[in-house]
Amino acid sequence: MKTATLYNLYQQHFLVDTDTRNIRKNTIFFALKGDNFNGNTFAEQALKLGASYAVVDEKEFQTNDRILLVTNVLKALQELANFHRKQLHIPIIGLTGSNGKTTTKELIHVVLSKKLNTVATKGNLNNHIGVPLTLLSMTDKTELGIVEMGANHQKEIEFLCTICEPDFGYVTNFGKAHLEGFGGIEGVIKGKSELYTFLKANQKTTFVNADDAIQVKKTKGVKAVSFTTEAIKFLEVNPFVKLSYGNTTIQSNLIGKYNFTNIAAAIAMGTYFKISETAIKEAIESYVPANNRSQILTTKHNTIILDAYNANPSSMQVALENFDTLKAPSKVVILGDMFELGKESVHEHQVIVDVATAFNFDEIYFVGENFNIAKTNKPQFKTYQAFEDFLKKNPLKNSSILIKGSRGMRLERILEFIG
Ligand code: ATP
Ligand code: MG
Repeated sequence: MKTATLYNLYQQHFLVDTDTRNIRKNTIFFALKGDNFNGNTFAEQALKLGASYAVVDEKEFQTNDRILLVTNVLKALQELANFHRKQLHIPIIGLTGSNGKTTTKELIHVVLSKKLNTVATKGNLNNHIGVPLTLLSMTDKTELGIVEMGANHQKEIEFLCTICEPDFGYVTNFGKAHLEGFGGIEGVIKGKSELYTFLKANQKTTFVNADDAIQVKKTKGVKAVSFTTEAIKFLEVNPFVKLSYGNTTIQSNLIGKYNFTNIAAAIAMGTYFKISETAIKEAIESYVPANNRSQILTTKHNTIILDAYNANPSSMQVALENFDTLKAPSKVVILGDMFELGKESVHEHQVIVDVATAFNFDEIYFVGENFNIAKTNKPQFKTYQAFEDFLKKNPLKNSSILIKGSRGMRLERILEFIG
């Protein structure tokens, strides 16, 4: 089946789904395959649930004239997304970087939505499936798109760029994340810079933080809109980031000084797309993060900075630095393992142990197998369960608590045991 034919069907309702558990009426169901499932087996069910068509890649499942056969469903989805992108004729901002992509994306989204009908990546759908789905969620009403692009190995951003063809780009930072797949920090820089290579080759524009020397270096030769901390000034973390811009002071709901750059990028883009200062302020002040990303929670006995959404050496470092600057009578740090660090894992865990210990926090707990092998005189727990048992016997009181670990550690489980 030709992409153009599929496109005609898609254009009837601009709907695409890949999961029969939450399928919409009149959608086209793409029968993707995963490690543990074969979407082809759900094609008929998708039609029963209200899909107009289903796209499969195994002939035996083509049991109905509304079930369309392609060579490879994933490839068909990606090609349809790119075909659609080409018909859209709207500016698309492509975002990548090691940390802060989702937060930055959401901030840009609230800001630009003040004026333009804007569609952005939902949640964290930033991979070879999420990027096509994001593009296909844009319709003829959409005026601007924001696409988060994630990667854990080389050539991934290059590939995602060929699907989404961004007109504007932004790399949040180069950090120590996914070191295993990228092959160290140099590999991260190379991999994320594939966005710059695309922008340069296609004479498109990047936004760049002019105070970030390495980004400036890597954007040489790319058309750039720069922003600086001279124009957008950091004021304080109280514990939320406060900043000034033009004649306006903005009080955000984001903790962590690292969020200053994320906000600054959103302001820069807002300014570029001619959103007024007042509207930018309103938008940023209205944004409250969710999903365990740098959330601040007040319980009966404690204040918690919950940053259990993910972790890597760079984001651990900035989270600790930020926690150190906060004024609180008793500070407790609970750190869980960082994953996907490959051969640098032992070293990077030791570095974080040393960094955390060098600050004068009242208590530090290390949770997980990786932290367990680091050298330290602070308490270590080989498993999450062991730590939970400890907490039940030794409840924390009247403390400010930073909780941070990789997604797989699911440290947010602790909340149940912290009163
Ligand atoms: P993912 O790779 O999971 O998609 P992401 O890049 O989308 O992550 P966010 O979800 O926005 O990142 O933020 C995750 C965590 O990264 C935050 O809770 C915070 O600890 C850290 N972080 C956010 N922004 C920055 C930044 N600019 N520099 C360093 N760390 C940051
Ligand atoms: Mg993300």
